[in-house]
Amino acid sequence: MTFSHWRRPLTWLLAWALVAGAGTGWLAHARLLALEDAFTVDARIVHRLLSQRAVQHDAVMAMLPLLQQPVEGHSSNAAMPLPRLPAAYPQIVEILRRLPGSTWPADWPQGLRTAADAAEARSLQSGHAELAQAELPAGKVWLVLAGRNTAHALQLDLQTTVPWDEWPMDAGTSPVRVHLQYQGQAFEVQAGRRLTYGWHYDFHKLLASHSQPFDVVLERDVSWSELPWAAMLAWAAASAAALAVLRALLRQRVAARRAEELLRLGQVSRLNQLGELAAGMAHELNQPLTALLASTQAAQRLLGKDGSDEEPDLDTARHAMDQAVAQARRASAVVGRLRRVVERPDLSGQVQTLALAAAVHDALHLLEPELRRRGITVQLDAPADLPAVRAEPVALQQIIHNLVMNALQAMDQPESGQRRLWLTLSLMRPPSTRVLLSVRDTGPGVTPEARAHLFTPFYTTRPDGLGLGLSLSESLAQAMGGDLSLAPPGDGPGAEFHLQLPLAQQP
Ligand code: ADP
Repeated sequence: MTFSHWRRPLTWLLAWALVAGAGTGWLAHARLLALEDAFTVDARIVHRLLSQRAVQHDAVMAMLPLLQQPVEGHSSNAAMPLPRLPAAYPQIVEILRRLPGSTWPADWPQGLRTAADAAEARSLQSGHAELAQAELPAGKVWLVLAGRNTAHALQLDLQTTVPWDEWPMDAGTSPVRVHLQYQGQAFEVQAGRRLTYGWHYDFHKLLASHSQPFDVVLERDVSWSELPWAAMLAWAAASAAALAVLRALLRQRVAARRAEELLRLGQVSRLNQLGELAAGMAHELNQPLTALLASTQAAQRLLGKDGSDEEPDLDTARHAMDQAVAQARRASAVVGRLRRVVERPDLSGQVQTLALAAAVHDALHLLEPELRRRGITVQLDAPADLPAVRAEPVALQQIIHNLVMNALQAMDQPESGQRRLWLTLSLMRPPSTRVLLSVRDTGPGVTPEARAHLFTPFYTTRPDGLGLGLSLSESLAQAMGGDLSLAPPGDGPGAEFHLQLPLAQQP
């Protein structure tokens, strides 16, 4: 596992893709629904308008037998034309009446005459107009209505049938295709636009007239360019901006937390270093104080046994010496107590079960800005199945922090070349009762003479060092039942420190 910086930007990018994708998808979906709704409304209107016309044609036919008087001047035995009704029904091209005994016009094609006879026979049965012939591509339709002794034929022009003044679309620009279909033929009412990609809506419904059983068919192809691109782009941009703000806020919070944590760690470290300092002082002070006590007691004894001429002011001297002894004892007791308190922190009460890898991650996270500033590459190797350890979280964090900070400071030296830090976690060799954390750097390493003193309080080679970090870390590690040591010099450059901690569950 490599400690990497690129995973977070990728997560943000993924989050943005999700939010932007969901929003733009919803916008596109809403637009498509609206377009489909508008199409359905238009289709219903078109069907109603054309059905109304068809019903009107039926009504006109039903009215024709009432115009009984024959047309003057017509004497052939063929069907005779009746006057047209151009003003009210311009779509009616021709009206014919066939009287008993006469035939349909001889100039009609044979097919039409046969169809008209068949339609007349059907009409006699049904009692209303029947379709004789439909030439849909040409827009021509013949209807026939049979009466008791006369029959009427009527020719329609479909193009004129369409009520363009009430039409719900602009026929010239609308993308909707409108057709009338009958037995494989089609009459194009409106050309519309045909696409091979995008979305497709259609509508089919029979005209509401028995004599004109044509299917009204509407089709609409929606192209990609009809999606609400401006709104979709605006949404994508707005969500990117919102996520950027959120990211900045979160970063600020992480930075603030990190600063707080570093401060706390610094305070704990200072307190502990103070404790270490006190331990050193106690050690230094205890000996002279003990000597002082011994010599003062001797003087007190001598004064008491000395028999010179001049009587010494024995009372006063004894009193003073009593005082000195009492003070010295008190000082010794204070120092002794202080020493007992600070000599070794007792962490046995606070240890808990925790994952060492997580603690290392936390420490690295805290020092991330430092690592980046110094251009140090960190490699963290931790087996996924590493068992948990027993440790006190704050003490552990402090040890790791000290070790990493020491490594960083060592690599600050100008002679250290490539700056790398390895943190390796492993189970120690059988009997495997401890986990080992190794911290290795590419600094100058430790000289043979420094090796012996590294863990001695106040030993430092840094001008502003206190020399307490390693000795304190060692005390803390030992207090948790673990150990801290400098690894023997290896092949590579730099220094390597080993922190051992006991397993939470001993095998
Ligand atoms: P300080 O950091 O205040 O000097 P420490 O106890 O942490 O005190 O370290 C003691 C000394 O050990 C340092 O001054 C340094 O000489 C040496 N030392 C510690 N860590 C390293 C390291 N990673 N590489 C080389 N020397 C180190």
